[in-house]
Amino acid sequence: METIVEAIHYVMSNLRKGTHCPVCGKWCHADNRRFHKDMGVALVLIKLFFDKYRSSDWCHVENWLQQVSKMRAPGIDNDTMERFVGRLKSQRMREWSRLKHWDLLERRPVNPDEVVRGYWRITRLGVDFVNGRLRVPVRKWIFKDSVIDVSEELVSIHEILSGPGFTLEDLHNLVRP
Ligand SMILES: [Zn+2]
Repeated sequence: METIVEAIHYVMSNLRKGTHCPVCGKWCHADNRRFHKDMGVALVLIKLFFDKYRSSDWCHVENWLQQVSKMRAPGIDNDTMERFVGRLKSQRMREWSRLKHWDLLERRPVNPDEVVRGYWRITRLGVDFVNGRLRVPVRKWIFKDSVIDVSEELVSIHEILSGPGFTLEDLHNLVRP
């Protein structure tokens, strides 16, 4: 290995399994992120925010999830709701911001005068995904906050939300427009 370009190429091609940088010796390894159910629940809830508050440009996601945790719906019994609220407050649910790597969410550009952070919006792609019009890679490999590789395996919102816990219909019952 003779040049920096070769070294960069070597590191980039070995990020999925991890490698020491031939220049500085630092360990470089991409994070393998899977699109999980709690991310799907968060995305649907963010879509429902914009369905409910049509004039809003941005959603303060943490506040919105807290607001949702206080909602009640006739078809959902207290035990089920309690379990759901537990999920809303879980560490995994806080991984919703990873949806940016799928281009399904975007963060409001930071204005230096602004005190309040945490505003996001769903992208066009995000709306299409929630509406079942497209499938996205189930895995992405992230290095230094950038996507360096994606899985061939795709997943739909219905596949993401299948299994135990809240369904798409439950979420729609909970958050009425
Ligand atoms: Zn290095």
